[in-house]
Amino acid sequence: MTLRDITTSIAKATSDAGRAADAVTLIAVSKVQPDERVREVLEQGHRVFGENKVQEAAGKWPAFREAFDGVQLHLIGPLQTNKARQAMELADSIHTLDRPKLATTLARLAQELGHCPELFIQVNTGEEEQKAGVLPADADGFIAECRALDLPVRGLMCIPPVNEEASMHFALLAKIAARNDLTGLSMGMSSDFAKAISFGATHVRVGSAIFGERVPA
Ligand SMILES: *Cc1c(COP(=O)(O)O)cnc(C)c1O
Repeated sequence: MTLRDITTSIAKATSDAGRAADAVTLIAVSKVQPDERVREVLEQGHRVFGENKVQEAAGKWPAFREAFDGVQLHLIGPLQTNKARQAMELADSIHTLDRPKLATTLARLAQELGHCPELFIQVNTGEEEQKAGVLPADADGFIAECRALDLPVRGLMCIPPVNEEASMHFALLAKIAARNDLTGLSMGMSSDFAKAISFGATHVRVGSAIFGERVPA
């Protein structure tokens, strides 16, 4: 598939769901993709990208930002506290705020730097041992904690378990967001972005469907 196929499917899913045409932002996940492929997508006019690793984003995006106007970079991978400063300097948005220690670090750095990327709180909707994110039962409390720190919380993010029907996870995330008056929902990847849009996704994170399979490093 190509960027154009994906934007067409997103437009269709958005209109099928009775939502406004601009309700969904496509984050093109460029992790591990060769620069030529990323450049092709930039040349087709797309500007919103996602990366998993701070290190990789730092190696790649300053140059692309110089070459192309209006780039928006989202960090969507687990964030170590000691990389938080670099992440805040690089990114327009961080989707993986998932623990109190990271929240207090981001709040301190926001004071110091005078700005903060928009934030999504990651919720571990499948309650998976190995996955990051706050547990659904702790989400309301953690959202309140982040707000008390004056962090710009835009919404919630989830990565459903691979072997489960994604719908129930999307529905759960939407429910937690609604009861906390949060409008942002970062959910849906290559295999299920249309479904995520039907459950209210505002940000879909699509990698392999745009760029092709990730070439192993
Ligand atoms: C890699 C990744 C994606 C994109 O996955 P695809 O299946 O290639 O679309 C989305 N979200 C996160 C958090 C990822 O790490």
